[in-house]
Amino acid sequence: MIVSELTQYLENVAPLAYQESYDNSGLIVGDRNMAVTKILISLDCTEEVVNEAIEIGANMIVSHHPIVFSGLKKFNGKNYVERVVMKAIKNDIALYAIHTNLDNVSHGVNLKITERLGLENAKILEPKKSLLSKLVTFVPNEHAANVRDQLFAAGAGHIGNYSECSFNAEGYGTFKGNDYSNAFVGEKNITHTEPETRIEVMFPSRLEPSILKALKKAHPYEEVAYDIIGIENEHQEVGSGMIAEFKEAVSEVEFLNILSKSLNTPVIRHTALQNKMIKKVAVCGGSGSFLLNSAMKNNADAFVTADYKYHQFFDAEGKILICDVGHYESEQFTMELLLEKIQKKFPTFAVCLTKCNTNAVHYFKG
Ligand SMILES: [Zn+2]
Repeated sequence: MIVSELTQYLENVAPLAYQESYDNSGLIVGDRNMAVTKILISLDCTEEVVNEAIEIGANMIVSHHPIVFSGLKKFNGKNYVERVVMKAIKNDIALYAIHTNLDNVSHGVNLKITERLGLENAKILEPKKSLLSKLVTFVPNEHAANVRDQLFAAGAGHIGNYSECSFNAEGYGTFKGNDYSNAFVGEKNITHTEPETRIEVMFPSRLEPSILKALKKAHPYEEVAYDIIGIENEHQEVGSGMIAEFKEAVSEVEFLNILSKSLNTPVIRHTALQNKMIKKVAVCGGSGSFLLNSAMKNNADAFVTADYKYHQFFDAEGKILICDVGHYESEQFTMELLLEKIQKKFPTFAVCLTKCNTNAVHYFKG
């Protein structure tokens, strides 16, 4: 297997287009055409992890957090970022990060957290807007079914749990070709009227090139008539955080126990208990305090995330139980998620989880 086979698969799972603007997901170091010997999965790509890769003969590291966020100007090993990059290049190790793009998809980091906690009916907490487009095209009636099928095959017409979604209306189109035209029907310089179907389908905007390619291939006209319209609708399967629920509500103390056990977290920083039952839970792996309003609007009883600051805890206003479980703790099962996905797709390939605990935060119990 070469590097690009794995990256293409991972970018199918979590498209790079869905990463946040500050992020740097994707192939950070390495040649796309290099043959991969073994893959090492980690949450952070530290020097320790690169050393481990060298020891076990892995030449590709897939981490959640990117080692590089912004431009590096010098490479002399004065900080850990430069040292990791230099060591990886020296040892022909590819570094790949799958970060906020994996946070933002509905089968990523946050679904894994809801599964660990035993929650069900998980939905994206704050779906993103402006990621969808609509294609409207006009097709001679007898070709409409084929054009529709080709558009569906290219990724159009998926909405939530439904596929092959389209709207169709019959009408007629007119055209008059000049001397140079090579029309599918009708004659040069004579106005032609053709019974046509207006087909409308939605698609993720990132797929526009392949959707247009499929359209032009399937449509019989020399000049294909189509409109592409950016739409504001939320993308239900892409966005920040998730909200899910317990089958049976649990007490606050039971809930804290579930968190502590299922996330192996030694400390949970939380707001005052209100003696309420917990049924609906919002989760966001990593730094999620920006989602508190969405969690409250969606009537979550608790909000599980990390990196909460002192003053932000007051924003709960006694209406929601904020639980800061630790950044590493909240995201550690992302490694398992990546392992499961890669093993399922490439069952014979050597993939393993790091043995290094890369948590930068330690807890002192006096
Ligand atoms: Zn993180």
